[in-house]
Amino acid sequence: MVSVATVQASPAKEVASCSGRRTYHDDMAKVLYTESVIQARVSELGRQIAQDYQGKAPLILGVLKGSFMFFSDLVRAIEPCPRGLTLDFIRASSYGSGTESTGEVKLKTDLRREKVEGRHVLLVEDIVDTALTITTVSRFLLEECGAASVATATLLDKHERRKLSYRPEYTGFVCPNEFVVGYGLDFDEEYRTLPYIGVLKPECYSHLGI
Ligand code: 5GP
Repeated sequence: MVSVATVQASPAKEVASCSGRRTYHDDMAKVLYTESVIQARVSELGRQIAQDYQGKAPLILGVLKGSFMFFSDLVRAIEPCPRGLTLDFIRASSYGSGTESTGEVKLKTDLRREKVEGRHVLLVEDIVDTALTITTVSRFLLEECGAASVATATLLDKHERRKLSYRPEYTGFVCPNEFVVGYGLDFDEEYRTLPYIGVLKPECYSHLGI
């Protein structure tokens, strides 16, 4: 007979990041966009995109990882859904650890010319900041994959920090120049699951000397 009591569970790992605060909610200095405000805006964007892409069989391309939550809400809000709409993802990374971009954008994708050529592509981004990421992805799609057009839907636009001139076609909110987390956006891979967007208490990243 097998005894179920023989395996010793290892002690639960303590959350070490912010002493005394045990949930992500406790780490927030302020909430910038609540869940209901985000959902209302995503519905508006979805309706607008549905109108603009009728008859265009768009390829909706999520820029991972930060856009995963916005992407999944937005694609369901594209109503009525244009025929031929398909979904795919591309992975882009420019942030090392912490809150500063490395400035070098790395793309990971299995998208090839045959999937993209002649298609109207709508990129879905969590945030356009310096615009290095979105510019790199757009160039890849137009120049290497032959997209017919590339437009961007971003939840947040932090335009004060632009290094390249870029204006997204669809913007959820113009965002103040602060490092934000939640609704897909992370700080060192944490906080992505929050249903709202907020700013961290400084003590949550002061150990990094920033
Ligand atoms: P960009 O290339 O436009 O400077 O930055 C784009 C990427 O940087 C975004 O997709 C996002 O992953 C990351 N990023 C920029 N600003 C923020 C921010 O305030 N918070 C978080 N969590 N990520 C950001």
